Amino acid sequence: MGKLGPFIKIKPPGPKAKEYLERDSKYISPSYTRVYPLVAERGEGCWIYDVDGNKYLDLNAGVAVCALGHSHPEILKVIEEQSKKLIHYSGTDFYYPPEIDLAEKLAEISPGAKNRKVFFANSGAEAIECAIKLVKYHTNRPYLISFYSSFHGRTMGALSLTASREIQRKGFYSLIPGIYHVYYPYCYRCVFNLSYPKCNFYCIEIIEETIFKKVLPPEEVAAIFFEPIQGEGGYVVPPENYFKKLKELADKYDILLVDDEVQTGMGRTGKFFGIEHWGIIPDIVTLAKGIAGGLPLGACIAKSGIMSWKPGSHASTFGGNPVACKLSLKIIEILENGLLENVKKNGEYLLNLLKEIEKKYEIIGDVRGKGLMIGVEIVKDKKSKERDKEKRNKIVYKCFEKGVLLLPAGENCIRFCPPLIISKEEIDIGIEIFEGVVKEI
Ligand code: PLP
Repeated sequence: MGKLGPFIKIKPPGPKAKEYLERDSKYISPSYTRVYPLVAERGEGCWIYDVDGNKYLDLNAGVAVCALGHSHPEILKVIEEQSKKLIHYSGTDFYYPPEIDLAEKLAEISPGAKNRKVFFANSGAEAIECAIKLVKYHTNRPYLISFYSSFHGRTMGALSLTASREIQRKGFYSLIPGIYHVYYPYCYRCVFNLSYPKCNFYCIEIIEETIFKKVLPPEEVAAIFFEPIQGEGGYVVPPENYFKKLKELADKYDILLVDDEVQTGMGRTGKFFGIEHWGIIPDIVTLAKGIAGGLPLGACIAKSGIMSWKPGSHASTFGGNPVACKLSLKIIEILENGLLENVKKNGEYLLNLLKEIEKKYEIIGDVRGKGLMIGVEIVKDKKSKERDKEKRNKIVYKCFEKGVLLLPAGENCIRFCPPLIISKEEIDIGIEIFEGVVKEI
C-alpha cells in the first residue's frame, strides 16, 4: 500500500502488544469479547496506530462512536476550552450552560421537533434505563415489548430488553419481569417464510392477533422498544412502511414507541436519526455512542408531556458532563454544516462498492444499510443462506492482519461503521483489502 494506506511493520500482536495482552488477562474483567488483539495507542482521522507502530484503517470508529474520527482539531479545541472553564458540576443539583444548550439543540433536531425534554446519562444502557423508568412512570402500565436480536445494553433493565445472544443473559436471572419479545422484520431471513411486500406485515399482525389476544393485554403494555436498524443483531434494515405500521398498532392501544438510536443516531445513517428514513415520530428517543464523539454521554429525549416526572424520580451524578455536552454541540454543528451530506454520499458509495462485491462472491449473501452503517452477511452459499460464522470471523481477523479494522455483528455479519468523516479514497483502500480477503477465503 502507498503512503495513504495501512502499514503493518510487524505482524500483530507485536511484542509490545503481547505484553499488554498478558497484563490485560491478569487485571481486566474477562467478560469482554475482543475479536482480534488490537492494542491501540493513538488515532488520527480514520487511522489507528497500535503500540508496535502498525497503522490501520478504522472502519468501526470505536464501535460506531468516533463520529469525527480521531484527534479532530475541533474536538481537541472544544475539550481544551471547556476543560479550562468547567469539567464537572453535577446537573442533578446545579445548572450549567452546556447541558441546557445541548438539551435545547437536541429538542430542536429530534424527530417531531416541538416540546421535548432531555435527560442526560453517560451511556446507551443508562439512556435506556431512563426510558424504561419513564414509560412505566408515565403510563402506569407493567409490560414492555422488545425485539428478538435487539441490543439495548447490559444493565439489568436494558439487558431485560436485549435478546441478542444467550451468553449476555446467562447467569443473570432474574431480569426485570413483564418483557415480551417479538420478531424483528429481518426480511432476508423471514421467520414466517414470507416475502415482502406480499407478507402484508404478518410480523406485526401476529402481535395483535396472537400475542395481544392470548398472553399480553395491550392496554397493559407501556411501550415498544425498537432499533430503527438492528445494530448488534446484524445491521438489519426493516422494509419501507414497517414503522408506520408499527406506529398504527401502538397508537391503537396507546402504547408508547421508544426509538433506540444509540447506534443509528447522530448522523450515522445519513440523517440525524435513523427513524427519519421511515418518517414516523416516536415518543421517546435514546442516544449515546456518536453523540459526543468519544466522550461518554447518553441522552433520553421525550415528549414534554411524557417527561413530566417529579423532582427526585431520576438523576445521575455524571450525566450531562459539560465537556461532553459542549463537544456534542460542536458535532451537531459540523453535521449540519455538510458532514451529514458526506455521510449520505460516501455511504451510498460504500454500499454500491459492497453490492458489486456481493455479486462476485458466493459467500456474500446480503449487503444492506443506510448511510455509513452497512452490514455484510457471510453465508455458505447464496442459495442455502446458511450462516457462516467461521468464515465471517476469518475475514474480520485477516482484515485486521492486513490493516483494516472491522467488527462482526449478529451471528454471521460484518459491520462497516467508519468515522463519518471518511473520504472516498479511504473507502477505496478499505474495500480493496476487504475484497482481497474475501477472495482469498
Ligand atoms: N442500544 C443500542 C442500539 C446499542 O447498539 C448499544 C451498544 O452497542 C446500547 C444500547 C448500549 O450502549 P452502551 O454500551 O453505551 O451502554
